[in-house]
Amino acid sequence: MRADVAIHGAGPVGCALALLLRRQGRAAVLVQQREAAARSFRPAFRPLALSHASRLILERAGAWRALAVTPIAAIHVSQQRGFGRACMSAADAGVPALGYVLDYGTLLDALLARVREARVPVQSEPVEALLAVHAEGTSEEASRKDYRQQAVVAEVQTRPGATTTAWERFTPEGPLALLPIAGKYGVVWSARPERARELCDADESRFLAALAQAFGRRAGAFVAAGARARLPLSLRLRSERTGERAAYVGNAAQTLHPVAGQGLNLGLRDAWDLAQVLQGAPDPGDARVLQAFAALRRFDATATVRITDFLAGAFLGESPLRGLTRGMGLTALDICLPARRFFARRMIYGASALP
Ligand SMILES: Cc1cc2nc3c(=O)[nH]c(=O)nc-3n(C[C@H](O)[C@H](O)[C@H](O)COP(=O)(O)OP(=O)(O)OC[C@H]3O[C@@H](n4cnc5c(N)ncnc54)[C@H](O)[C@@H]3O)c2cc1C
Repeated sequence: MRADVAIHGAGPVGCALALLLRRQGRAAVLVQQREAAARSFRPAFRPLALSHASRLILERAGAWRALAVTPIAAIHVSQQRGFGRACMSAADAGVPALGYVLDYGTLLDALLARVREARVPVQSEPVEALLAVHAEGTSEEASRKDYRQQAVVAEVQTRPGATTTAWERFTPEGPLALLPIAGKYGVVWSARPERARELCDADESRFLAALAQAFGRRAGAFVAAGARARLPLSLRLRSERTGERAAYVGNAAQTLHPVAGQGLNLGLRDAWDLAQVLQGAPDPGDARVLQAFAALRRFDATATVRITDFLAGAFLGESPLRGLTRGMGLTALDICLPARRFFARRMIYGASALP
């Protein structure tokens, strides 16, 4: 089979790109590993916070309406064992919601259904194409910085139930996020590997007690927890996002720490910018087209990598002086509307030119 563009990897970013290209009338093929291999990759539960910019991209890909999401009206940021907190609202950023939460599997199923409806060809055999887009997820070839943290992921029930506030709490061991999802919370808790193992192996009541101790009672009482999973965290970066007749998008280009929920949002902006650059290009694999793509993505990707890398480490440790500085930073953010607006819009849109 021959195609203009072969997209390797039918994860969220590969599917979104395939749909965007389909809308342009570009002959694109999705190349996915066999069913069994793809299933073994899929996490049992992973809460994803999609930004307003990601919503716009998925709307333009024709994939938004089918999604059942929980909107985030406000985000509350605080630090354990230290003063200071910052609250950001959708109104601060001038958007209907700061983000939208759903499970990875729900998003992927909806995107794959849309791919079928749009009749994008999907196959498991190699395809000859003018451009190969790599969207296979984290690459072993990429450089690696180990955060020496693991993310513990679980769904928890609180009393009262979750509404539309998301919580990010920085603990001396790593960031702890609570994302509202259908009346419950999706927990993503980064901690040292030994502690993460302890949290995963603990029985439900001990896990809930540890969560209450780290988080406090702001979100209510923690009353039940679903199955827990843990995964190691590292920053993976490809030195070049293009090669000969090749482009890299999403986690295949950069895999980030999950703090502040930026990885997929950045990957969707990769897909959007690549689709814009390819629009009308007679040869999608032409070196000039790929250079334009690399140039367009450089600033957004570099800035987002730096922010998440900074946040992953900035709140670690128990130093009183650093705690004081962080507390002052959070307080300043909380009382200064222009700073809050800038920060919120930066996290929503990245540095990309999305409207
Ligand atoms: C705990 C946790 C929480 C997160 N929370 C958020 C969040 O709130 N917001 C956010 O924006 N991001 C979040 N992320 C990051 C987000 O999950 C990833 O950035 C996103 O899944 C990347 O999508 P992708 O399509 O690039 O890659 P993947 O999701 O990794 O998908 C890649 C696909 O390619 C397939 N594949 C692999 N190898 C091949 C091959 N050789 N040939 C063909 N196909 C192949 C795989 O089967 C898979 O389907 C989180 C990550 C973690 C770990």
